Amino acid sequence: MENTFIIDPLSFARNKEVRHGKIAENGLDRLRELVDRDEGFVFVIEGDSDKLGRPILRLQIKGKIVVQCQRCLDKLDHEIDIDTFLILARNARELELYDADNTIDAVLALQELDVGALVEDEIILSLPISPRHQEGVCNTDIQSILKREQKVNSFSSLLSLKQIH
Ligand SMILES: [Zn+2]
Repeated sequence: MENTFIIDPLSFARNKEVRHGKIAENGLDRLRELVDRDEGFVFVIEGDSDKLGRPILRLQIKGKIVVQCQRCLDKLDHEIDIDTFLILARNARELELYDADNTIDAVLALQELDVGALVEDEIILSLPISPRHQEGVCNTDIQSILKREQKVNSFSSLLSLKQIH
């Protein structure tokens, strides 16, 4: 992993800091278990406060991953383009309150927040549940795989014919 860092989220938000980061290809361990591969990510994290004065972190992440199409089982490119914000909960009670509201995402404002882990969480949350190629774009190689199997089958029936004679 490169260019990820630890922040103190509350002071980061208070000072309206902005940091850019980059994650190397296949650099996220948990993500790697879920997708074929990725081509790395760039991200921007920005501290701010929302209209109600609550401290927030805005997170923009861009990158490309390769997943498996659930229809043809071939590789499928998937763009990651996330633009989200998280409200910083100052304690567990606050986090509980925020979590009860489905319209907002919150994160506990630990004194040391690992930005790389946060970026990885957001990417994992955004993964498509059942990724598919668009209609008609699926790899028709599945047809050639079937044909190949048919050939193998007719070949083995030829073999068994020979054995009989
Ligand atoms: Zn497909």
